[in-house]
Amino acid sequence: MEKYIYLDNNATTMVDPKVLESMLPFFKDRYGNPSSMHSFGGLVGREVEKARMQVARLVGAEHDYEIVFTGSGTESDNMAVMGVLGYYRDRKHVITSRVEHPAILSLCKKLERDGYRITYIPVDRDGNLDVEMLKSSVDDDTAIVSIMYANNETGVVFPVEEIGAFLKQKGVPFHVDAVQAAGKIPIDVDKINCDLLSISGHKFHAPKGIGALYVRRGTRMRPILYGGHQERGRRPGTENVPGIVGMGAAAELALEHLPEYDSRVRKLRDRLEEGLLRGHKNAVLNGGRTNRVPNTTNVGFEFIEGEAILLYLDEKGIAASSGSACSSGSLEPSHVLRAMGVPFTSAHGSIRFSLSRYVTDADVDYVLSVMPGIVQRLLEISPYWDSKKQEPLPINL
Ligand code: PLP
Repeated sequence: MEKYIYLDNNATTMVDPKVLESMLPFFKDRYGNPSSMHSFGGLVGREVEKARMQVARLVGAEHDYEIVFTGSGTESDNMAVMGVLGYYRDRKHVITSRVEHPAILSLCKKLERDGYRITYIPVDRDGNLDVEMLKSSVDDDTAIVSIMYANNETGVVFPVEEIGAFLKQKGVPFHVDAVQAAGKIPIDVDKINCDLLSISGHKFHAPKGIGALYVRRGTRMRPILYGGHQERGRRPGTENVPGIVGMGAAAELALEHLPEYDSRVRKLRDRLEEGLLRGHKNAVLNGGRTNRVPNTTNVGFEFIEGEAILLYLDEKGIAASSGSACSSGSLEPSHVLRAMGVPFTSAHGSIRFSLSRYVTDADVDYVLSVMPGIVQRLLEISPYWDSKKQEPLPINL
């Protein structure tokens, strides 16, 4: 395949070649079990511990043992919420937001069926969380608050430090889903004052199928899996050693590259976004401009279908993603855009572009050069657009 311009890094990222290099020995001659008594396994165990330290540094954990390796961001999220609920069995209230990832929202739906009371905190038109409502929703029955650091669709960053300070004072366990923050903005579990924090390797250039949960020392929870003594009994099962080693290497690289995200990647994203908004009469930004991770932009193209844009982009060798999901035969806008109150006319035509440090100036130039042709072609066949006048038809939606 010719060069593909990959702007879907919030879905997953390329494994950094240095990360792959670090993993290879553990598929070959270093295949020992880290739990074994012999030195062949012990050597591997030491590499697992090195990775734990690297991941601890990425999130600002004081102790390496506060990092538990898991199989994914989804597992980390489930372990955090279910683990805490397993301890506080008499508390039946959970607080989260309306725009969380399904790893939390689907779990909350299941918890509702099991008799839990879930408060879903709303967001405003810019995607910002109603923090005052969150604070007033906490009561004696609240077992855990689970809030994401950065939204996967819009990149909007939530004020987790303010929430953490409040919850610490109330003594309520706080879980942060930082899957979309890791590698894009600095994370410091002490500044956030969280008890638990999830990350996922494949979002920051480690492979898929490896995640981690930060568990603050002293956090009261129960395991969700039962088995051996791995991960201090908190996540039994023989470790995914190559994945763990890769995640450690990726964590170290992520820290090194954070300044580049704040400068070069942010500038590229801003140039792409400004070009799209200026270049198209029907383009609107989804999510506020200020509190965002530096790699994400979500732009709604009114009166046309996001899926059609994606197909044309794909033809041109560009990967992005849309703000709607095919569900039960109808194209429903995503729960995030719906929660923000994005109008039907632009929610359906929303495209998320998510960059990485591998994206270049030339990539952004190329996207900006092909988009006008795609958008114009789709407007011409849109039932809501007057092609002669180049303006929306006067239709009451
Ligand atoms: N949380 C957020 C915010 C995400 O964006 C994702 C993945 O897209 C997850 C959790 C789940 O992570 P994983 O794909 O590792 O299960």
